[in-house]
Amino acid sequence: MDTVLETGATTRGQAGLKPERAKVTVKDLKGRVDPDWCPGCGDFGVLAALKQAIAELGFQPHEVMTISGIGCSSNLPGYLNTYGMHTLHGRALAVATGAQLANHDLKIVVTGGDGDGYGIGGNHFLHTMRRNVDLTYVVMNNQIYGLTTGQLSPTSAKGMNTKSTPFGSVENPVNPIPLAIAAGATYVARGFTGQQKHLVELIKGGVQHRGFALIDTFSPCVTYNHDNTHEFFKQRTRKLEEMGHDPTDFHGAMEKGRLWGDVIPIGLFWRREDLPALDQLEPVLGEGTRHSSAGRC
Ligand code: SF4
Repeated sequence: MDTVLETGATTRGQAGLKPERAKVTVKDLKGRVDPDWCPGCGDFGVLAALKQAIAELGFQPHEVMTISGIGCSSNLPGYLNTYGMHTLHGRALAVATGAQLANHDLKIVVTGGDGDGYGIGGNHFLHTMRRNVDLTYVVMNNQIYGLTTGQLSPTSAKGMNTKSTPFGSVENPVNPIPLAIAAGATYVARGFTGQQKHLVELIKGGVQHRGFALIDTFSPCVTYNHDNTHEFFKQRTRKLEEMGHDPTDFHGAMEKGRLWGDVIPIGLFWRREDLPALDQLEPVLGEGTRHSSAGRC
């Protein structure tokens, strides 16, 4: 009989038997380091949902790589037992693009915050989407710069008082949902850490999608954002599934993505499956590591 090892490998006890894949549990995906996030931080919910999604999809730890930039949420790869890279501020998508094009056998999930992704890394955000790189990007959107102790971020609401805007922000915030749809992302969703099962399904959908998947996630910063709290979103978020939304309806997705008030939709806004991912457009990119190992170096 095959013996399942703790590491996820299998032994073969009988010639001709195909080794079975060990079932990976959420516990197996726990990293060696415990999160140092503030108690109550929404990022705990994203970490839990991501582990659950990986376990439910049946990936082994070595088949997944998480890549992040800089910020509280960007510490996430260190808390997960998969391959991981903690890169430069705003540059996670650029690094992830290279990793995905080099090794198609890895399932790559990019994690980070709104400041890192929509501000410092705004340029990479746009170009990774128009290229439809086969990545899943989970943004922990808390509408504030948390690691640097509470300055205005690209998604902070107009009028918000922060350390850097003591008289209220005069800027219009970035709305990542219509922005991503217009820029060419082929899976655009929004989750909330207060809706764990729903978030797990959105992440699973993004990971299974062939192309660029954005899951913008309300992940409240309990220390520095006292406006957009867990309670704030609990009272306002409404699932798109319950609103009769069709994620293949472009105009409906743009319209729902712009809603922000008493009702804030969460769920899958937009999905299209007729566009090839970047690595499917060019034979050399399609070969991944098989190209270099076939005699180039
Ligand atoms: Fe989370 Fe905010 Fe604390 Fe950072 S500062 S760990 S975002 S609660």
